[in-house]
Parts: sequence; C-alpha cells; structure tokens
Amino acid sequence: VPPSLASHEQKLVELIAARAGSLVDDLRLHVGLPTGGGNHAALDGTRDRLTQRVQRLGASLELVLGQSKPDWLYEPGAATAGRHIPPTAICRRPAQALHLRPILLVGHLDTVHDPAGPFRQLTISSDGKSATGPGCVDMKGGLVILLAALEALEEAGIDAAWTVMFNSDEETGSFHSEPALRAEARRAASAGGIGLVVEPALPDGSLVVERLGSGQFMIEARGRSAHVGRDFQEGVSAVTALARCLLAVADLPEPARGKIANIGPLQGGIAANVVPDLARAWGNLRYPSREIADELASGLESLQSAPGDLPAVTVYTTFNRPAKPLTPPTLHLAELARAAAADLGQKLPFGKTGGVCDGNILQDEGLPTIDTLGVRGGGLHTPQEWIELASLVERCQLLALLISRVARASSP
Ligand SMILES: [Zn+2]
Repeated sequence: VPPSLASHEQKLVELIAARAGSLVDDLRLHVGLPTGGGNHAALDGTRDRLTQRVQRLGASLELVLGQSKPDWLYEPGAATAGRHIPPTAICRRPAQALHLRPILLVGHLDTVHDPAGPFRQLTISSDGKSATGPGCVDMKGGLVILLAALEALEEAGIDAAWTVMFNSDEETGSFHSEPALRAEARRAASAGGIGLVVEPALPDGSLVVERLGSGQFMIEARGRSAHVGRDFQEGVSAVTALARCLLAVADLPEPARGKIANIGPLQGGIAANVVPDLARAWGNLRYPSREIADELASGLESLQSAPGDLPAVTVYTTFNRPAKPLTPPTLHLAELARAAAADLGQKLPFGKTGGVCDGNILQDEGLPTIDTLGVRGGGLHTPQEWIELASLVERCQLLALLISRVARASSP
C-alpha cells in the first residue's frame, strides 16, 4: 500500500481489494439482466436490486416519473416498446456530520444491446484478465463499483453525504430523466456539491474533462401529391423541397470549430409514380459551446417556409445535451481525482471527446462534474464490448477514495 494513504484510506482500499471476487459475481449478475431496448422487466429488476442495496446504507428512495418525449424524436422504425417511460430512482443519504460536501452520483441502467439477441452473458477470457458481455463497461461495471464503493465507505466508517440517481434512458438521450437530473444537480450545486458519473474510462484509463454537446433535429417538408403521368404539374414535391434543405444543412458544419451536423435517416414518397407530399430527415448536431449551438439553431430555423407557402418546411430541434467545457471548478475536481489515483499508484491522464453523457446535463446546472469514473474496457455499443477485469477493483478504489476526500475538501 502506498505510504501516501492515511490509515482510514488504507483500510478502505483493503476492504475493496477483498471484494474482488464479489465484484465479478455482481457484474455477471447485472450483465445477465438484459436492460437494452427499453426492456422494462430487466430495468425494473436492476433498479430494485440496486436501490435496495443503497437503502440498506440508510438512503431514502424516491421514484420520479419522467417527462414524455416529442413524437418527432422517434426515428422511423424505432421500437414502440421504447415509448414506455421508465422512472428515475433518487436515493438520498445525508451525512452524520453537517459540514460535508454533498456528492451526486449518477449511473444509467440501460444498454444499447438487443434484449433478445445472442449477446446475453458475461464470458470470461481463458487467461481470466478480461470478459465480454452486453453493457459490461457501459455501464454495468460502473454500477457495480459504485455500489461497492459506497458499501466499503460505510464499512470503513467514512462519513459522506451522497445522493445516487439511476436513470433508464441515457442511451436514448435522457429525455425522460432530464428534468430529474437537472433538479438534483441544481440542489447539489446550491450546496457546494459535485457530480460524479460512472461512464467507462477512455481505453487508456483517461478521465474525460471536456465534452461536446449533442442535439437532434427533424426537417419535415410537405407538398401536394399528384399522379406523375396525369397531373405532374399539379404536384408539389416534398422530396425536392427536403433535398434543397439538406444541401443547406450540409454547408453548416465547421469541424475545426467543433460545429457538426449529420443528416440521416431519411424518409419520403410512397411510390415512384406519385409526386411525394411528405418527406422527412432526422439528424444530429454537435457543438463545443452554447454560441455554436445557437449558430446551428439559426441555420436550421432559416430553412423554415413562411406560413401558407407550399412546399411547407417545418424544422424541429432540441439541444438537450449542452456542451460540457472544461471549467475551473471541474478542473479542480479532476485534479483531486488525479491526486487520488497517484496515491493509489495509478495514472489518470485527462482527455476530451465528442461523445455525450449525463455529465453534460449536470454541469449545465452549475455542478462541477467528472464523468468517466467507471471501469476500463472497449468495444462499447458493439457485440465485442469487453472489460478489463482488474479495473473493477482499481476503479472502485479510486472512486471510493475520491468520494472520501471530496466530501472533506472545500469548494473550489
Ligand atoms: Zn454509458
């Protein structure tokens, strides 16, 4: 054990090392619960198991029903099963002492994997060093270490004030859980707290300190249908109108400034001999700041037609995942994490990504947040998703030590 750990920290680290076997067992259990594709049964079962464990640590439980999602956000072919709105669990555990900094811990229960597909179980490699399984790094491994870290802190007698939130729709944009995430982030921010999210680390173990934001849009063009052979001139093509809009959207991106707009999927027309009266395109936006999000918004809004025009063009947008720039309080928090890693003999480089997560939403409410405190692995969102098994203990130790130190650190 490195000499830089205080004796209570050393005890904490040893308690977690002793849990190595149960961390793998717990991961096997949770990977085997197929929480992808809006599968309520597995989401409810996972939520029950996790919330029961945090309630045993003295936390209260509140289930918040989510807001509904606008119809246009469902892309063509989207599973109707996804339209069920799952609740978000909020488990609050006050500290014994009053002066401790509140910590908001957030994890998602859902995965991207087909609950009825062939990729269903945790399979450990022949050398025992890694395993594959749906959601093993994103983020069942993170959930498993989160629970174990809180239990080990309790067992070591280390006091902390924490709130744990489990949502079930992160992989589809957190539309349902966003109001609950924002409300809890505001509450923690106003009390000088911080946010920690157990998304997987980058492959080299890096902590992401900076993220682009992500938004969605849908362009809908309406025209007038007509038989191509008999009344072509009576027709107004929605597909042609949409195509003109898409060329304009293709001119929006400036990747060097982090300004990104992607188009797809598309839908339009019903038969080749009918002038199409309806066409739609969906797309995704990425941006490093509110300013660039506003530029994208005005670029899209300019495509809308005037009232009464035919073809009629309507643009729908949502910028639900704000950018997460590196702010001084977040850098301060990341440096606390790096110091804790160094005291454990681990390296914690900093990185950035265009990917988004719930950390974007938390920080947008003024809560300094770091969000890649989960386990190491790779192949996220693919049938090759894998976890480096040693990272269960290592990252659990890091998370627990960070919670213990942040709880006592003064606000930056
Ligand atoms: Zn994730």
